[in-house]
Amino acid sequence: MDKIVSLCKRRGFIFQSSAIYGGLSSVWDYGPLGVELKRNIKNLWWKNLVHQREDVEGLDAAILMNPNVWEASGHTKNFADELVDCKKCKKRFRYDEITSQQSTVNSQQSIENREQRTEKTEHREPSAENRAPKCPECGGELTSVKAFDLMFKTSIGAVEGEREIFLRPETAQGIFVNFVNVCQTLHKKLPFGIAQMGKAFRNEITTGNFTFRSREFEQMELEYFVKPQEAEKWYKYWVHERFDWYINLGIKKENLRLQSHSQEQLAHYAKACTDIEYKFPFGWKELEGIANRQDFDLKQHQKCSGEDLSCKGVIPYVIEPSGGVDRALLAFLVDAYHEEDVKGRKRVVLRLAQNLAPIKVAILPLLRNRPEIVKMATKIRETLSPHFVAKYDDTASIGKLYRRQDEIGTPYCITVDVDSLEDKKVTVRKRDTMQQERIAVGKLKEYLGEKLEESPK
Ligand code: ATP
Repeated sequence: MDKIVSLCKRRGFIFQSSAIYGGLSSVWDYGPLGVELKRNIKNLWWKNLVHQREDVEGLDAAILMNPNVWEASGHTKNFADELVDCKKCKKRFRYDEITSQQSTVNSQQSIENREQRTEKTEHREPSAENRAPKCPECGGELTSVKAFDLMFKTSIGAVEGEREIFLRPETAQGIFVNFVNVCQTLHKKLPFGIAQMGKAFRNEITTGNFTFRSREFEQMELEYFVKPQEAEKWYKYWVHERFDWYINLGIKKENLRLQSHSQEQLAHYAKACTDIEYKFPFGWKELEGIANRQDFDLKQHQKCSGEDLSCKGVIPYVIEPSGGVDRALLAFLVDAYHEEDVKGRKRVVLRLAQNLAPIKVAILPLLRNRPEIVKMATKIRETLSPHFVAKYDDTASIGKLYRRQDEIGTPYCITVDVDSLEDKKVTVRKRDTMQQERIAVGKLKEYLGEKLEESPK
């Protein structure tokens, strides 16, 4: 993991937020390459789930919502984690994580589980059967269990503290409260989905593992509304659909698995829930959860708002695939990271799927002190840049430039040399095989277009 963290910083994928002031714990900034990778992930999700489907519409709801939304959803009362502190080493832990370390099922709990676990006012001794008697780090004695509110609060209006509101801890509620708007304006028939991605905020207790558990992060959520009798079928469909999405984008099959929640782990209203887990260097962890939430959310909002939230007389069931952009990005980076030996020297290469790669083609002059070569290379970049993310770089020797592009996952490098001035051809080098080909400058757009088309859409 240290290698990934260092690569991210060194090459401009991810920086610690406000680093010059000592940072802000578990908040991250995406640098020039990180923002490209993140956009590629989000664009592909949007394209696959919204643009390529007749049955899904998009939404972009506000982060700030009427606090009654969070009353109705149960977050105000229940969105808390249980924490314990070690009396000896003073480290803080999520109680569910240390008690379920032996469990075969994912130790990270979703809101359904959180809801079952704790009320915010609660303060209790660990139960005898569940007790984690000792600190997992130093073996010290633990404090009693305290509830810890995960929602960030702020206030709205000119007078401070006038009305307390929250930064949304998930994007899903924005979809539920707009369900009728979308259903009516677009005359939708079941089944249909509403997709949204955007920022979510959680004042997490236990952080660490780089961006895996951040306090500010992005979610990609789909609420897929179905007839109650078809819920099971669609639940299975979405579990497989979402699993395949990661595989299609290059995640190795052996590093991805499905983990179904047991009956005890399910919330009272959830019929079924499966996590897609990735084998991170720090263990198998949730990338995305797919839940059959039945009609709980819409019924709750109907009850609390007094509005009719049915669609053609039916309150549908909902299947929810809910994933995190930051976790997906981290998994793609970890999975793509390779070290190999090339003629006795280490080569680091990010084997990202081409459509995820932040830069598609780098244009490199063999000799940066030859103005005609530099001119030709910059001209090639200008011609290609309306079609592909293309970058010019002349800040090192060609060997170093190749290594740099390998490390950030650029699938193609174009080198302009002395011969190029005569024959109007350039060398195209492929990231994965390091094979080189001479291609006519006039054919570059077509050549790259064909090659990049080969990646999953
Ligand atoms: P965890 O138990 O790991 O905190 P969760 O089950 O609470 O996760 P959900 O509420 O189901 O997560 O949220 C859906 C998705 O949002 C998760 O699968 C994950 O990808 C992402 N996510 C949730 N919390 C965070 C976080 N703190 N940092 C980054 N991504 C997150």
